[in-house]
Amino acid sequence: MDESEVIKIENVSKKYKTEIALKNCSLILQKGRIYGVVGPNGAGKTTLFKVILGLIEPTEGNILFEGDTEIKKSDIKFGALIETPYLNPELTAYQNLRYIQIIAGNDNKDKIPAVLQMVGLGDVEKKKVKKFSLGMKQRLGIAMAIINDADILILDEPMNGLDPEGIIEIREVILRLQKQQDITIVISSHILGELDKLVTDYIFIKKGEILLSDSKVNIEEKMVDNGINDFEEFYLRTIKAYE
Ligand code: ATP
Repeated sequence: MDESEVIKIENVSKKYKTEIALKNCSLILQKGRIYGVVGPNGAGKTTLFKVILGLIEPTEGNILFEGDTEIKKSDIKFGALIETPYLNPELTAYQNLRYIQIIAGNDNKDKIPAVLQMVGLGDVEKKKVKKFSLGMKQRLGIAMAIINDADILILDEPMNGLDPEGIIEIREVILRLQKQQDITIVISSHILGELDKLVTDYIFIKKGEILLSDSKVNIEEKMVDNGINDFEEFYLRTIKAYE
């Protein structure tokens, strides 16, 4: 696996009027890995994603893309699913994807059936989105995020509100995606057991600060060293140690 640096976040802070949502955050994201971002409600996860995506400007700090010395996003293709996806309910999944392609000037119609297949919607091409279940809408949201060949996919709570079957389907989509495409995935979830089946790395965040950023392998070693055999316990101890 190519582990080159795709994003380097240097001392990034974000202040909303009075609220400090991110405090001096530094991070390196490497190609082809799946990062699990975990932390209590209001920790700053969504803000971190929005800063990476350029949807909001950091108050301080830099974000470097593929080793660049200044903010330069134009060469990197992002895909994101933040909160609920914007989908046109009167259109089919195919038509929604085609619409997104047209906006981006992407002529590659042939990719649509393959992407629908990848997200497990290969057999519902004629169904309008208004008839989709929540799980189907989330999977279409992921398809929308990757249809224009994303290098980095950011998924904010993609399993929120889904039933166990829907959660498993999202997991399968993410794992299939990582196998088939050279993509870096950043995903947040409060469902730790589920995240643990997916990620190669973890980022723990609390009150706007990054408490830990490490590979799952290293974390598992730390757990053994500290006599902890449950990831949830490790997470809670790490989070509680910081007050
Ligand atoms: P959750 O797990 O609940 O989704 P989160 O980790 O994604 O939370 P953020 O949504 O990034 O957290 O919020 C971080 C902090 O910034 C919170 O205290 C929140 O109230 C505040 N915040 C977020 N967006 C805004 C905004 N537009 N204006 C003011 N404060 C905001």
